[in-house]
Amino acid sequence: MGPKTAYKLATNLKLKSLSDLAQKAKSKKIRVLPGFGQKSEQEILESLDKFKEPTRYLLPEVFPVAERILNHLKKLKEVKIAEPLGSLRRMNPTVGDIDIAVASNHPKTVIKHFTAFGEISKVLEAGERKGSVILKNGMQIDVLINPPESFGSLLQHFTGSKNHNIKLRELALKKKMSVSDYGIRYKGQLHEFEGEEEFYQFLGMDWIVPEMREDTGEIEAALGYKLPKVIGVRDVRGDIHLHSSYPIEPSHDLGKDSFEEIINKAKSLNYEYVGLSDHSSGVSTHTKNQIIRIIEKRTKKIEQLKSSVKNIRILNLLEIDILTNGQLSVPKDGLKMLDGAIAGIHSSHSQDKKTITSRLLAAIRSPYVQVISHPTGRLLNARESYEADWPFIFRECRKTKTVLEINAHPNRMDLPDTLVRQALEYQVKFIINTDSHDIAQMDNMRFGVAVARRGWAQKRDVANTLPWVEFRKLFNV
Ligand SMILES: [Zn+2]
Ligand SMILES: [Zn+2]
Repeated sequence: MGPKTAYKLATNLKLKSLSDLAQKAKSKKIRVLPGFGQKSEQEILESLDKFKEPTRYLLPEVFPVAERILNHLKKLKEVKIAEPLGSLRRMNPTVGDIDIAVASNHPKTVIKHFTAFGEISKVLEAGERKGSVILKNGMQIDVLINPPESFGSLLQHFTGSKNHNIKLRELALKKKMSVSDYGIRYKGQLHEFEGEEEFYQFLGMDWIVPEMREDTGEIEAALGYKLPKVIGVRDVRGDIHLHSSYPIEPSHDLGKDSFEEIINKAKSLNYEYVGLSDHSSGVSTHTKNQIIRIIEKRTKKIEQLKSSVKNIRILNLLEIDILTNGQLSVPKDGLKMLDGAIAGIHSSHSQDKKTITSRLLAAIRSPYVQVISHPTGRLLNARESYEADWPFIFRECRKTKTVLEINAHPNRMDLPDTLVRQALEYQVKFIINTDSHDIAQMDNMRFGVAVARRGWAQKRDVANTLPWVEFRKLFNV
């Protein structure tokens, strides 16, 4: 079902959830709508059957909810500190529940205040130092409270990950220490920690950023005081994968906002540069000449903006389809007019490993392509990554200086962190983009940065941390 049909269905039947949809289909309310029939109703029921409701939320869905509850908690003067825990604090792309640690000497007052949060539908537990609730949107929130003098242990213990903590516990045992969420017991005495830094110091190592705590070598690095300084949100100087409402008759969805609105939003984020990268025109609906004419017209418009807009650099880009045979969806004469191109796979994701690999390689080797968008094609909770020969691809990227995208769109987060880590071994460079179709989504940059941090990437590994004078060298400008 395309977006227009889905929209029609949702508005006509006032749908709020998938269970609404199932109920309408079962009560035969869909077949009577114009443009629908018994067959489409049946198909909807069948695909609903196949579709499992995701048990984990996407990080960017959970984030604003967590911020609201943290703000609520911090209004109480008895709350000294409130911090998220678990996969949320580690910025895992998907999150189960929202867990929060609070430092306070008045746990009862905190629990009372917590359970008065306006979005709660049900209180599951209101205990001595723990509260647990279900929100109206179905999310569960747990709050745990320690006195300030042992807050560091609480935070560390419930941040995890499980594997990280197992490794720490083994390490502690060798030193005849035992670790809990209250502190470290050593020679019959409990040592408490106000902050995590002191906790890690007590074990003889550097503090580790939460995003890295997955037991993939971070403990060994921390013991040797050799942890890399991972990239931060403030290091990012631009976003170049942005879809506008420019009428390009694209192969895929148009963005919601104009070039001007995107540029203004980029300025408000203090970016030095911004890339306008609409989907290219569809190859099945346009001749080569038509595609070139459209690019010509769009280029004129962008050139005008370049000369009139101050305080930010603009790149005239397109997001180009890598077709099933590895060819690009834009002919050479069109590519030549652009400042550069982002190429990505948007069709036939189920091809075998060899075919997918050769499609990606063809784009990587094109002199007109600088960036490969969402390299694995995964959609969280919906579609697995396709298989590809990543070592081969990484080597080729390095050779051709092609940059791999870390796409920060909430259901993509692609490259995944594990492949970021692998690509680093091949000295591949990354670019973190939001792939926004709406300027509000440009705020998702932090989630892409989190993926880079989880993959141990440093500022020097990420192209869009470069100042314009360096960054421009990647493109034909
Ligand atoms: Zn794309
Ligand atoms: Zn895109």
